[in-house]
Amino acid sequence: MGNYVIEGRFVLTMTGPGIGIMENAAVVVSGEEIIEVGPEKKLKDQYRKLPRLGGADKLIMPGLIDAHIHTGIALLRGTAQDTRNWMQQGIAPFKKHIQPGDVQLGSMVNIIEGLKSGTTTFADYDYPLDDIIKNYLDVGARACLASTVNELTPGMDKLKIGELYPFDEKLGRGRLQKALELIEKWEGAGEGRLTFLLGPQGPDMLGEKLLEEIKELSNKTGYKIHMHVAQGDREIDQMEKRYGIRSIPFLEKQGLIDEDLIAVHLTEATAEETYLLAEKGAKMIHCPGSIGIIDGLVPPVLEFLQAGGQAALGSDQAPGNNCNNMFNEMKMACVLNKVRKGDPTVMPAWKALRMATVEAAGVLGLGEKVGSLEPGKKADLLIIDLNQPTLVPAIAEPVRNIVPNLVYSARGNEVETVIVNGEVIMENRKLKRIDEERICREANLAGNELARRASEDILSSANETVQMMKKGYL
Ligand SMILES: [Zn+2]
Repeated sequence: MGNYVIEGRFVLTMTGPGIGIMENAAVVVSGEEIIEVGPEKKLKDQYRKLPRLGGADKLIMPGLIDAHIHTGIALLRGTAQDTRNWMQQGIAPFKKHIQPGDVQLGSMVNIIEGLKSGTTTFADYDYPLDDIIKNYLDVGARACLASTVNELTPGMDKLKIGELYPFDEKLGRGRLQKALELIEKWEGAGEGRLTFLLGPQGPDMLGEKLLEEIKELSNKTGYKIHMHVAQGDREIDQMEKRYGIRSIPFLEKQGLIDEDLIAVHLTEATAEETYLLAEKGAKMIHCPGSIGIIDGLVPPVLEFLQAGGQAALGSDQAPGNNCNNMFNEMKMACVLNKVRKGDPTVMPAWKALRMATVEAAGVLGLGEKVGSLEPGKKADLLIIDLNQPTLVPAIAEPVRNIVPNLVYSARGNEVETVIVNGEVIMENRKLKRIDEERICREANLAGNELARRASEDILSSANETVQMMKKGYL
């Protein structure tokens, strides 16, 4: 932290209705905060004694926000792919063999991946969360955490497809208790970098009583509810079997659909259900890469936006997406929605950029703190090198190409410097607080150990990944 001026040929402030672009501009940081944004010439004179970052061939923009990620299962990356019944037959056989050390290492690998591709805020949705919290404190990133609450008994992988999940209310209650303890202990830790949400895992994964209790807690405390909603035909099937009603009408009946609901995926939501959520002020998180790969579908984000809803992007999990890189997610959001509608205009690059910055901050309830570059906000920002081949040439007239190139061409390695809360945590692509190489080496070993432990369960699973392996296709 400190006081400094960051200069750029372009500054994307993300203020106003678009991207708030300024040319030859600068951002002045004091301590944790941005204190001024304006023309470089003026600010250079005004703050001539302060150290300088950035330069004439750089772009400055807010740090990206990954609004839905499960870093705790990153060691399963690539193990359950191109398969049906991904949850039960794909990742469940592995998941039950995860040990606490695996969560910490995998999570850190995911966080490193995100930071190196410009993610500064991670809305991590996991259980157990203790070691993950330590990672965020160590690495210096911002996190908006939800400790997931479900009532699922162990042995999901042994259930028949379509069989009703058995619930254990005591287990769910213990998890909610744990979530509340974590909030009590860590809210505001890391100089305010850690914030929390409540995280029921999905309407099909816990009983209505506990869900009701979580909603009451949310009303009482103001903590928003981050929840998978209509996340697959498997969820709708469970809801119809258990309650005789689809997920969204069920949530409406329970009084859960309002501005405090952050609904993730909506893969199976009908147009009417989607409009209802938007009209009632609920937020949506769109994870195009994950849902595209796992389900082969494109969720109804365009309908949600059309109805006036606010939406963000998320990368979801490494076994499924398989990368946690918001540049990839922005491109996926644009391309998949264009293909879905057969219309190249439906999801322009600037919209995706907003959904990974300023809109995402609004969705997560962090709009006062991050998402745009303006005085009074936290200094979470990126310095991007315009001389990287994927961004060359950077043209300003007669048409500026920088936003399309950021969304359709950049891969994340163009991010040179990452600043969170005013602190430079990555400089010249090197993370300053942690030993990235050591962590990746150790995570590689831990991933191999985990696979060995899980071997028997995986080989007896009916998933297509195993069949492909047996045929020599993997
Ligand atoms: Zn998820």
